[in-house]
Amino acid sequence: MWVPKVLVPKMSNPETADTEDLPFDKFREECGVFAVCGHPEAAKLTYLGLYALQHRGQESAGIASSDGRKIHTYRAMGRVADIFTPEVLRGLPGELAIGHTRYSTAGDTVLLNAQPFSVACNKGRIAVAHNGNITNAVELRRELEREGSIFQASSDSEVILHLVARSRERTLAGALREALLQLEGAFSLVFLAEDRILVARDPHGFRPLALGQMELSGGYTCYAFASETCAFDLVGAAYLGEVEPGEMVIVGPEGMTRERYAPIRDHAHCVFEHVYFSRPDSIVFGKPVQESREMLGRLLAREHPVDADIVVPVPDSGTAAAIGYASEAGIPFRQALIRNHYVGRTFIEPSQAIRDFGVKLKLNPIRHLLEGRRVILVDDSIVRGTTSRKIVRMVRNAGAREVHLRIAGPPTISPCFYGVDTPVPAELIAANHSVEEIRRFVEADSVAYLSLAGLREAVSDYSHDYCYACYTGNYPTELVNIEELMAARDRRG
Ligand code: AMP
Repeated sequence: MWVPKVLVPKMSNPETADTEDLPFDKFREECGVFAVCGHPEAAKLTYLGLYALQHRGQESAGIASSDGRKIHTYRAMGRVADIFTPEVLRGLPGELAIGHTRYSTAGDTVLLNAQPFSVACNKGRIAVAHNGNITNAVELRRELEREGSIFQASSDSEVILHLVARSRERTLAGALREALLQLEGAFSLVFLAEDRILVARDPHGFRPLALGQMELSGGYTCYAFASETCAFDLVGAAYLGEVEPGEMVIVGPEGMTRERYAPIRDHAHCVFEHVYFSRPDSIVFGKPVQESREMLGRLLAREHPVDADIVVPVPDSGTAAAIGYASEAGIPFRQALIRNHYVGRTFIEPSQAIRDFGVKLKLNPIRHLLEGRRVILVDDSIVRGTTSRKIVRMVRNAGAREVHLRIAGPPTISPCFYGVDTPVPAELIAANHSVEEIRRFVEADSVAYLSLAGLREAVSDYSHDYCYACYTGNYPTELVNIEELMAARDRRG
């Protein structure tokens, strides 16, 4: 049997590798942020916003609120619905709040790294929640520590607060501007001060950050910010548009002000938000995600047609693209793999190894739909290839005559340093193997990927506004410490 060189340590015995964590069980998603200003139930709204953003990180969550005099913070490990009981929310009073839901792309998995972080400084008490990854955080931290700053967490986001606290600028907005200009990489940030919310996005606009508005009784306007617009739908806010790359928005007693704090840079929106991360019911970077995903599938069908009986998505990551593929190809769409949505992190496994046990916990095939059929299986990506292989096997064992794997994006060949947990090249099957080798490894009858041009077209990227580094290895910012970033990624595994 063919075994890819670089995967040998993890797959030395594929028959007992069944219970290893599946990629989509590892909660590898990044972070989600939410903020609201001027609402009598700010913390409750933030809770709901985080609830809608839960898919962006399930490791920890936190909310900081302000009643105008004091900042109250609550952070815990776990999921939003479990952390924020009515009692906890009662301890978060005030009309201003920010929230964060996290999966660690930087820093260890401990409560100390849960956000929002807060500090007291000469600008008052401030709290911050961050989505993204600051690529020069290690250098900044070394410098700050040399000058006496004491860090509590290992996450890159704490650096921002220290830079703000240390600034000689007299106003908070001035200190923030000064801090932001020292940061490199990806950041969508929401800050809470006693009487205002400040938000900012990095000049490349890697991660999304949307602005929404709510009309309250009495003619008051309340503003909200969220990683994705699905959070606005739940809290009843209207989507006004994006916080622009390089923009800082302040909402306080004098209303809302918007300013550009950094010079204009080339945009580099993360294309993977459209391919995989964001919810399909969100508008991200101004474009509906479901629309791009269906288009990915349509273009995939045009580029890589195959004679088959049914199109089957890998749920949920391949569903929208499979709908697009099926309608373009004129082949019936069938949900022949059913997902159990309640799979947790831990489970009791039988002492007798069951083949592909891990994937069976998560997915179950509908045999009568698959039996004797030529199947086109659609997913968004192949990372290590181990899950895809188990799913192909599952479909074949359920009676499929042929299994053709179609991937709604180009081969993933490079790690992401801007907030997505794409592993190092040694672990990425496509970084080290040809499509034919991947086909053999996943045991499919054929494998084909969407082209980069197809991906560009699906997200309507006509003015080169997106980052494709995970597919090309071309990073849009200078990464002076790339070896260090790579080593940190490798250590986390
Ligand atoms: P594998 O075959 O082991 O490479 O796993 C592929 C599966 O992982 C696909 O179903 C993808 O949707 C999923 N996947 C891809 N990227 C990520 C990510 N960053 N986080 C979690 N799951 C992912």
